[in-house]
Amino acid sequence: MLVNAKEMLCKARREHYAVPSTNFVDWLTAETYVNCAEKKNLPLILSFAESHIPYLSLEEASEMGRYFANRASVPVVLHLDHGTNQDIIFRAMDLGFTSVMIDASQKTFEENVAKTKAIVEEAHTRGVTVEAELGHVGSNDIGEAKEITDSIYTEAKDVVAFVEQTQVDSLAISIGTSHGLYHGEPHIHIERLKEIAEVTDIPLVLHGGSSSGYDNLEQCALNGIAKINIYTDFVVAAKKALNEGGFADYFDGKDKVRAAVEAVLAKYYDVFHTA
Ligand SMILES: [Zn+2]
Repeated sequence: MLVNAKEMLCKARREHYAVPSTNFVDWLTAETYVNCAEKKNLPLILSFAESHIPYLSLEEASEMGRYFANRASVPVVLHLDHGTNQDIIFRAMDLGFTSVMIDASQKTFEENVAKTKAIVEEAHTRGVTVEAELGHVGSNDIGEAKEITDSIYTEAKDVVAFVEQTQVDSLAISIGTSHGLYHGEPHIHIERLKEIAEVTDIPLVLHGGSSSGYDNLEQCALNGIAKINIYTDFVVAAKKALNEGGFADYFDGKDKVRAAVEAVLAKYYDVFHTA
């Protein structure tokens, strides 16, 4: 069933587990993620990144996302990932997205508050939940994020003021991950996460989860992160399945990609203790 992210993420935060947020880019990826969630009987955040609009329009993403979410027996959120443009975020709400992210993390604190607040005020009249980002999760390559940038870690003291001023529903924080492929496993600042989790009950979000290390991600899920974004690991697994496994024809290739993507998500469900 199609739901917003409010209950799903508050429960995850309370019960110390995380829900995977998986970026779909076409019919096959959306279908595979939702099928995996159904097999596991677990919730899912089906995400579509604003930066993927050149490959799939917002209208197409909305049709696909709502189709799979509505027919699922488990709760599925249709989420706009890394919304940077207010018009696109409002259009996503018009099209039935149940959750949106406003990413103004590269702006000043005051600008980030103002932009986030404007989205929250509109979204909450429609029952749509909002994620913002404080600090900045940088990017190693260009995938779901818009450009290559450095990470700037989130300060615990800023979190309280930001949440109070914006009334946002969940907050992405920067504690050492980056978007895209790493050169070696990143160092995750679990102590910073604990400091932040201590001062706020809001569900916290980790971007750039791919290849951050199972132990690191498990520690994040147990210590206040309620949503972990995964994208790069799926496309890397799909490419590997095609390159190394070989495939007989188009349909066989699609089956191999499905199996590879599903195995990645099934593993992350276990690592995140999703319930
Ligand atoms: Zn991200």
